Amino acid sequence: MTDPRGFLCDLVGTLVKSKYMDPFPGAVEVFNELRRKFPVAIITNNSTQTTEELKSKLTLNGFQVKNVPLISPFTVLKEILDKYKSEKIFVIGEEVVKQRIEKMGYRLGEGGIVIVGLDRHLTYETLKKTTNIILNGGKLFGFHNNKLYLVREGEVGPSVGAILAFLEYATDIKAEIFGKPDRRFYTSALKYLNLHTEEVAVVGDDPFTEIQMPAKYGFKTIFLKCGKYKELPQNIKADYVFNDFTGMEKFLAGSERA
Ligand SMILES: [Mg+2]
Repeated sequence: MTDPRGFLCDLVGTLVKSKYMDPFPGAVEVFNELRRKFPVAIITNNSTQTTEELKSKLTLNGFQVKNVPLISPFTVLKEILDKYKSEKIFVIGEEVVKQRIEKMGYRLGEGGIVIVGLDRHLTYETLKKTTNIILNGGKLFGFHNNKLYLVREGEVGPSVGAILAFLEYATDIKAEIFGKPDRRFYTSALKYLNLHTEEVAVVGDDPFTEIQMPAKYGFKTIFLKCGKYKELPQNIKADYVFNDFTGMEKFLAGSERA
């Protein structure tokens, strides 16, 4: 197999250990070298921090991300929701997310659109209200459908996918997804690299959203064992498996950016 010519790198569990953007040992050096030699973009399902906040934290920790595209579910949210500008949007999510959606020009309230993100203070009362909005004809969207998120090394929490599963089971309505692993997300991300799907590798620690689905779309895949999962499930195969991001050094030797 030919080596990839560009990379879509996941963030938490791949470059950094947690949402505090603390790098894995060696990840900063290898990433900075990789982005010097190849087209690289960062792909994240983070729905609690803005792109600008993430980039400034990464910069403080030594990552050179100034001209590196950072694609998040907000990128796709905008593409999809522009046709619903007149509708009120009910958001399950933390304050910063609600503010950001409002800043993008949407009206918040109990209307016909439901968007689900991570809310670490979610209550049954809110889930009940959301269930009723959906059953009364509301359209259900999710930032992503990750099963778990990495709280810190050695501890995970139920993620957005778990909240969506609750609502989908209760209402028999399937959510539309803005983030990984939706095909639209990967199509948007690919546009920034100017390469064909089969030339690009997705690098990540999530077997479902960063390995299984991207492989179906035609990307190469690189699984890292340092994040949420220590091993790939038996039915999922990656093109490369490394212990952590320093394994990416394999692609640096002798390569120069065209
Ligand atoms: Mg990850």
